[in-house]
Amino acid sequence: LLSLEGATVRFGGRPVLDAVGLDVAEHEIVCVLGPSGSGKSTLLRAVAGLQALDAGRVMLSGRDQAGVPAHKRGVGLMFQDHQLFPQRDVGGNVAFGLRMRGSGASKAQQDAHVRELLDLVGLPGAQGRAVAALSGGEQQRVALARALAPRPRLLMLDEPLGQLDRSLRERLVVELRELFGELGTTVLAVTHDQGEAFALADRVVVMRDGKIAQSGTPLEVWQHPADAFVARFLGFDN
Ligand code: ATP
Ligand code: MG
Repeated sequence: LLSLEGATVRFGGRPVLDAVGLDVAEHEIVCVLGPSGSGKSTLLRAVAGLQALDAGRVMLSGRDQAGVPAHKRGVGLMFQDHQLFPQRDVGGNVAFGLRMRGSGASKAQQDAHVRELLDLVGLPGAQGRAVAALSGGEQQRVALARALAPRPRLLMLDEPLGQLDRSLRERLVVELRELFGELGTTVLAVTHDQGEAFALADRVVVMRDGKIAQSGTPLEVWQHPADAFVARFLGFDN
């Protein structure tokens, strides 16, 4: 579904993405791990079309995306700081995601769809609630519903559970994995939490300084870290 070839992004001459090659298959859940500043968010932004490449290319379903604007790529991106619209209620935020699909659905159809999406993320009946009155975890669920609304062929999540406490994260990871399985969603998610990546992903990609240090199943990466950096990052300190 997604194929990156030699993807390179430089800021002030410094490569932040350094000739990255990455393939994500249909229905696969891939988690990108790596320290702060290793280029994880830049990678997602490049795939989404929010960051131009200095070299290399992004292919989606076999098509080069060079020059294709973000809203025409059919990918969803949930930002690191989720960026809900504070002045709209929960339903308004989710409906925004629906409208991005550009269907001519009636108001009633749209309302039904918003209800469905909120059920899906475990917030039934929340459409009238004010965003500001929600907990961090509830806000992240709303952001997820909004990202899922246009039915993107590729859903990208940047630290989707970043602001939550550990017990809630652990519960949500299990729920998300089930949800993505049911929907058959292809997912590329960024996290810096190893436990989260290992619980969610079919495949884990470890980044370092804009390069992919290792890619493999959680078990492979855990049992055979490619080098000392990966081993140290996974917590094998000695
Ligand atoms: P974190 O885990 O902290 O979110 P990250 O892996 O997502 O980190 P990126 O946001 O991709 O890291 O940033 C990678 C590097 O690129 C950082 O050193 C950052 O300062 C730099 N960078 C990102 N965006 C820009 C920009 N618009 N202009 C200049 N430098 C940038
Ligand atoms: Mg980031």
